[in-house]
Amino acid sequence: MIKDELSNLFKLQEIEDRCELLKQTLKSHPDLKRLCKLKKDVSETQEQLQDKNKRIHFLENELRQAEQIIDKYYTTAKQAEERIYGGEVTTVKELKILEQKRNSAQLKVEEYEEKALEIMEELDYLQANLPKNEEMANKKKKEYNEKRLKTRREIDRIKNELTMIIKQKQQLETGISSELLDKYHRIRRFKRDPVALVSDGKCNGCMMDVSVMIALEVERHESLIYCENCGRILV
Ligand SMILES: [Zn+2]
Repeated sequence: MIKDELSNLFKLQEIEDRCELLKQTLKSHPDLKRLCKLKKDVSETQEQLQDKNKRIHFLENELRQAEQIIDKYYTTAKQAEERIYGGEVTTVKELKILEQKRNSAQLKVEEYEEKALEIMEELDYLQANLPKNEEMANKKKKEYNEKRLKTRREIDRIKNELTMIIKQKQQLETGISSELLDKYHRIRRFKRDPVALVSDGKCNGCMMDVSVMIALEVERHESLIYCENCGRILV
């Protein structure tokens, strides 16, 4: 009877170790960390892309406005020019005013043409790089989705195993007296593996030699035998 109980207890210990390992794996799964990093990367890339699109939109607007201003000043300059050479101007004063108007309008045209050029250069650069940026963002998103699916599968697998072995554990516990279970849990508070095998005359828990008498008693399985050195239950 005690032999079966001890054998169940040893199995229980193995299951509890596996249980802890699985729980630990769930908590700090490397794939989860990688997934988290990848998610951050994806959202950063998306944000950058959005910023670029916003900038493109803004620049297109600016360009449109600059072109309107150029048109306006160009018309002003042209009208002034037509009047200057139209033969209608009679006084020097009027001529000077018109010339001034034409000149300042021409300056404005030049100023805004320069601005428009700068805008176009930046727009060209952004628009040329946009497909590459979009491709990169999509690639990262795809990679993230694939990884997420794979990780979820892996996590599900661990959870399933955990559910299964918790059931096994409960089943095993029914084959062990509550007294023995109590002892096991009491030792487990201080030692990771409260049950140790005796092999080659050594306690597998502390690796110290056990006395011949103890080794014989363990083999007889008539009562609970503890390691004289580490206090583990010997099986
Ligand atoms: Zn020991």
